[in-house]
Amino acid sequence: MGQTGGTVVAEAEGRKTEQAGAGRPGAEGPQLAIQPPRGTHDILPAESPSWQLLESAARRLFQVSNYQEVRVPIFEHTELFKRGVGETTDIVNKEMYTFSDRSDRSLTLRPEGTAGVVRAYLHGGLHRMSPPVKLWYAGPMFRYESTKTGRQRQFNQTGVEAFGSAGPLIDAEVIVIALRYLQEVGAESCTLQLNSIGCPLCRPAYRELLKARLAPRLPELCGDCQDRFQRNPLRMLDCKIRHDQERYLDVPLAVDHLCQECSDHFQQLKDLLDRQGARYVLNPRLVRGLDYYTRTVFEVVSSDHRLGVESTVCAGGRYDNLVELFGGPPTPAVGWALGMERLILLLGEKRVPAPEAFIVSANQAEALRLACELRATGIACDLDFPSRGQARSFGKQLQQANRSAARWAVILGDDELAAGEVTLKNMKTGSQQRVPRRDLAVSLKDRPAGQAPAEERPDNEPETRTS
Ligand SMILES: [Zn+2]
Ligand SMILES: [Zn+2]
Repeated sequence: MGQTGGTVVAEAEGRKTEQAGAGRPGAEGPQLAIQPPRGTHDILPAESPSWQLLESAARRLFQVSNYQEVRVPIFEHTELFKRGVGETTDIVNKEMYTFSDRSDRSLTLRPEGTAGVVRAYLHGGLHRMSPPVKLWYAGPMFRYESTKTGRQRQFNQTGVEAFGSAGPLIDAEVIVIALRYLQEVGAESCTLQLNSIGCPLCRPAYRELLKARLAPRLPELCGDCQDRFQRNPLRMLDCKIRHDQERYLDVPLAVDHLCQECSDHFQQLKDLLDRQGARYVLNPRLVRGLDYYTRTVFEVVSSDHRLGVESTVCAGGRYDNLVELFGGPPTPAVGWALGMERLILLLGEKRVPAPEAFIVSANQAEALRLACELRATGIACDLDFPSRGQARSFGKQLQQANRSAARWAVILGDDELAAGEVTLKNMKTGSQQRVPRRDLAVSLKDRPAGQAPAEERPDNEPETRTS
């Protein structure tokens, strides 16, 4: 369940902007007639390899865990988020991108992933499949946030939602997947914070207890908390204002007022996490404000210095009543969402992949044909595209090959064309060799990563891959 969006992105992007100053396209670029909208940023080639890495690591992990991908629209009927995220939340009240389309329907750019996934689960009849139905999604979300803190208004989340299993085993599974992912992408010092907020059986009594304790203190509390007291008293414990936090130190906690079933569920989950070697700290003040949240709630907080101060990188929980709220059959569910912008900071900038080969020829049609042949065999290659129509000199094309960082130049001159051969030039060592054109793909595949042709390799050069 995605509550990580804005906050996750917040400082991460703030820092990114500072770092971005020098040497980045855009920093000293021309004054454009149209600037990008506030709170958006382009992922340029220098950064996209990091995104691909994050995304492919997630996809791999979801695949081996038997979670299936679901892609849902970026906009939905506004009503979906009002119901699914909650009319009392800041997201719905202050942060949604809501607009009327040309037929005067109220639509909203998705501020989080879960509501759309639940709608798709029902609309697509997945609730008739044998449970559990384990899904994942990834993509941009939109919230109208203040950009002063560096928050993005379009940001990316990846999440899982597992439907149809009520027991704590699946809570444990989704949690260990999140931890495993953070470990794989190199997030250090991650702490899992865990709590249980009960169910519709035990929570009403707890809520009354909490209100009774807090009512006399109400005049001292912030406006938001006074508001929450009426609509959503559990959320008061989540207040970020220290003055208010100090007033909540002695209040009764949900975890001490669980019914037997909730208490058993929580204990079993803790035992399961222990058995997986997943460490956690109990945080009895961790809450989710909406009634459809039940039992398990958790956040993964990282104190990795590269992410700045302690930051929530993943947030999730159980939401056994949401599917029903959307008109479906009673269906237990649990999930989480990860904010991706912050994780990008862990990876730094990766090398932009270079082509394996660069084709150099005076015959442009043949050069393009050879490029297509190589590409069809999976070899990344490129050729020269002169700014004017005609092919440039071999010298200029070789310079271009050099700039492209290709490992090989494949020279296709008149001689070579006539002989059905090519000259293969190692761009690192400068050594050259004629190869029959029909063997070219095999030749290139046999010599991965800048390795000189076998007969030309100096004895002292180890046969290593550099990629
Ligand atoms: Zn309960
Ligand atoms: Zn407050």
